[in-house]
Amino acid sequence: MAYDAIKESQGRVVKLLENSVKKGRLSHAYLFEGAVGAKQFETAIYFAQMLLCQSDNDDKPCLTCHNCRRIMHHTHPNVYIVEPQKTTIRKQQIVDLQIEFSKTSIEPGKKIYIIKDIDKIQVSAANSLLKFLEEPHDNIVGILTTTNMNALLPTIISRTQIVSFTSLSANVVKQELMDVGYEKHKASILSHLTSSISEAEEIASIDGFEEIIDFVPDLYRAIIDTNQSAMMLFHNQGDFILYDNTLSKLFMRCMILFHKDILHYFDGDMTHLVYESHLDLMSDLSQQKPKNRRIDELEHMLDVSSRLDRYINQRLAYDNLLYELERSE
Ligand SMILES: [Zn+2]
Repeated sequence: MAYDAIKESQGRVVKLLENSVKKGRLSHAYLFEGAVGAKQFETAIYFAQMLLCQSDNDDKPCLTCHNCRRIMHHTHPNVYIVEPQKTTIRKQQIVDLQIEFSKTSIEPGKKIYIIKDIDKIQVSAANSLLKFLEEPHDNIVGILTTTNMNALLPTIISRTQIVSFTSLSANVVKQELMDVGYEKHKASILSHLTSSISEAEEIASIDGFEEIIDFVPDLYRAIIDTNQSAMMLFHNQGDFILYDNTLSKLFMRCMILFHKDILHYFDGDMTHLVYESHLDLMSDLSQQKPKNRRIDELEHMLDVSSRLDRYINQRLAYDNLLYELERSE
């Protein structure tokens, strides 16, 4: 599952690591960098399994042998994991790592250290780590992971082999969310709001998330229904959005997703739809106004969305937006 996702989303990275293992060309330290949720840490664990797996495969780990399982559970004595304590990696953690790695290992094979979120390292800790990186040892492999390469000391970057991760595709995120029990339409929306599974779960837990994702198609339904007014609907039911900036932003992001869906519908592109269960509604909306008008509306939405962080009269901004969406001329 998680491994399938790693291979599907980071196929190029996995290939590169497999090749370096196969050819015996390992670096003494790697820097796995990329966006939040791109699975840098999971891949570091997978790489450690590649290096210590007891099966006959020379590149792919079996994931079932004693070594693979212990690495997965973070209990293999040759794999040392350093994670930030609260928000920083302290000097003592690096000192402990060095002490551990100066001992002879109990078990055969490589010794691997993984430092998660290396960008959180304190300067004094970084200086200790640099000394460690400058004295490479044949039997030791280091894997540093980060989601914020810009915050790293250049001296650390220059002593590692950089491996860049691409963000997870929406399809991978959606499938993973469905695997852990999210309904399809929620997983679809979440996967377009973030490429990180944990961030998606955070968004889903926001009080008001479910109301918002349902409220958006309700508004569009009111837009095309001549007996209803989207503005009135917003006045009657949208108050909860106005007084909370998180909800306001989420609301606008969902509006934009829905509106982009209408544009996809115009293009006959059904593979990129987010609100995929509202095809009839999109069909009606695509007949109500020409595509160029819908594009103008999208620009209006993006403008409102970009101004939410500043002080704006949200009620007025939403009124204007809904007025434009509803107006046929
Ligand atoms: Zn194995």
